[in-house]
Amino acid sequence: MEGPPASARPVAEPFARSVEQHAGAVREAILAAVGSGSEDLDVADAVGRALAVDLIAPIDLPGFDNSQMDGFAVRSVDVRAAPVTLPVHTTIAAGDGRPTRLPEGSVTRIMTGAPLPEGADAIVPVEDTTPAGPDAVTIGTAAGPGSFIRRRGEDIRLDEVVLGAGGHLNPARIGAIAALGLTTIPVRRRPRVAVIATGDELAPRGGPLPFGHVYDSNAPMLAAALRTDGAEVTLVDRSDDRPDRFLHLLTAAAAAADLIVTSGGVSMGDFEVVRDVLEPRGGRFGKVAMQPGGPQGLSIVDDTPVISLPGNPVSSLVSYAVFIAPVLRELAGRPATPRTTAAAGRDISSIAGRRQFLRGRVADGVVEPVGGPGSHLLATMASANVLIDIPADVVAVAKGDKVRVWAI
Ligand code: AMP
Ligand code: MG
Repeated sequence: MEGPPASARPVAEPFARSVEQHAGAVREAILAAVGSGSEDLDVADAVGRALAVDLIAPIDLPGFDNSQMDGFAVRSVDVRAAPVTLPVHTTIAAGDGRPTRLPEGSVTRIMTGAPLPEGADAIVPVEDTTPAGPDAVTIGTAAGPGSFIRRRGEDIRLDEVVLGAGGHLNPARIGAIAALGLTTIPVRRRPRVAVIATGDELAPRGGPLPFGHVYDSNAPMLAAALRTDGAEVTLVDRSDDRPDRFLHLLTAAAAAADLIVTSGGVSMGDFEVVRDVLEPRGGRFGKVAMQPGGPQGLSIVDDTPVISLPGNPVSSLVSYAVFIAPVLRELAGRPATPRTTAAAGRDISSIAGRRQFLRGRVADGVVEPVGGPGSHLLATMASANVLIDIPADVVAVAKGDKVRVWAI
C-alpha cells in the first residue's frame, strides 16, 4: 500500500451496473489473482479439491479377471446339461495369487474377488449348487460364458483418462484414484482469502455488548461461506471506521491472501471507511441494480483484488452468493449451486429495474417468501433454503407463477 498519497489519483465516477456486469468484473479479478498454481496432495487429503491435470490410469481396473460371487468357477460347456455333479478341484480365495488351471470336467470353489483359474469361463453362484460329498458339487443351473466374471479392464483401462483437469474430487473419485494405487495427485491450489468486517459499532463475540453496538456476524458468516466453497481463509479480522486502522489491516490482508473480501462502509453515509480509503486508490464503487446488495465495490490493492460487499448482513451474504460463490465453485471444479424453479406460494411484488433476491423456503415445489425485505433480518434468512431470483424487468409475480430459485 505504498506509493503516491491517496489524493494523487482522480476518483472515478461511481458506477451503475447490472448484476451481470458486476459479476463479470468480479469473476475476471478473481481469476486473474488466483492463477493456475497447483500442489501435490496425498489422495486421502484431496477431497473437495479440483484436479490440476488429466489423470491417466497407470493400470487396468480390475487388474485381472475375477469372480463376482462366492461359488464355483466352471467351464460353461461342462455345465450345459445341468443339473450335473462334478469333482471340486481346489479352492481359490480372494488374494490367492497362485497360478491355477481348471482341469476339464471339474470345478473350482472360488470366492468373490479371487482370480479366475485358467480355462474357466463362468461362475456358478453358491446358491445354485448343492454339496455332493467332500470333493464334489452338484451344479443346479447352466451358466453361459462370462457369467459372474469381472473382466480385466472393464472399469478403466491402462492409459485411459480417469478424470479430466479441473474435475472435482468427490469421495467416489477419491476411491477410484486410490484403486489405481496412486499416492499423491496434483490439485489446483485453493484461493487464499482474507475477510475484513468494518464498523465502529461491531463488538467481538464473547465480550459485553455496549448500547448501540452489534456483534459482528459478517466476518464469521463470510468466512464460513468461503470455506464451504473451497477457499482457504487465511485472515479474518474486524476494523473500526478509522481509515488508518482499515488501511493497516488491508495491507496485512494483501500479504496474506490472493483475494480480500470486505463488508460494510461502501454506501453513501458519512463514515464509509472502505470506500473512503479505496476510492482514492483506484477502487471502483457504485450501485448494482439489485436488491438487497445495491452498493458494491471492486479495487486492486498490492495486486490483490478487494471485493467490497455492503454491511447489512443479508445484503452481504446475498452479494457473496451472487458475485463470489459461483467463481470459487468454478475454481474448485464444483457444479454451481442448484438453480431450479418453483411455484410462487403467494403474490410477490418487485421493484422495476432491480433484480430482487428474496429469501424463500421451498417445499414440494412451492416457494414461500420468508421474512420481509429488511436486509438486517439475518436470523430470518437462516430459516430460508433458497433465494428467489426475480429478474429486473419483472414487477409482479402471481401466486402459482414459476420463479427461479437458487439453493442456499
Ligand atoms: P454499512 O454497510 O457499514 O453502512 O452497514 C449497514 C448495516 O449493517 C448497519 O446496520 C451495520 O451495523 C450493519 N453491519 C455492518 N457490518 C456488520 C457486521 N460485520 N455484522 C453485523 N452487522 C453489520
Ligand atoms: Mg459501516
